Amino acid sequence: MEQWINLYRASHVLEAHAIKGALEVSGIRVRLNGDGLQSLIGELPVDLLQVTLMVPEHQQHQAARVIERYQQRQGNGWLCGRCGEENGANFDICWHCGNDPQEE
Ligand SMILES: [Zn+2]
Repeated sequence: MEQWINLYRASHVLEAHAIKGALEVSGIRVRLNGDGLQSLIGELPVDLLQVTLMVPEHQQHQAARVIERYQQRQGNGWLCGRCGEENGANFDICWHCGNDPQEE
């Protein structure tokens, strides 16, 4: 069975869809996790909902690069303390080496 991983936590639904489009253009399959919550919660403004983008594990690095470019256009990211790779602001862990900056 194919492994899907949570790659990116979008700060709102519109961002999630923008990135999903960018990924799909690059030939990466994307699932949005949390999208369906809208119908459940209904009353909440859309921008309060967090959406996680899931990608197939084997496309993880390719997808991370697409998101990284997207993030660079949006500004602000962080540098990994272990490998020095630049990560987009919404990455919880380094896309390159998997380092979790919260655990440093
Ligand atoms: Zn790293």
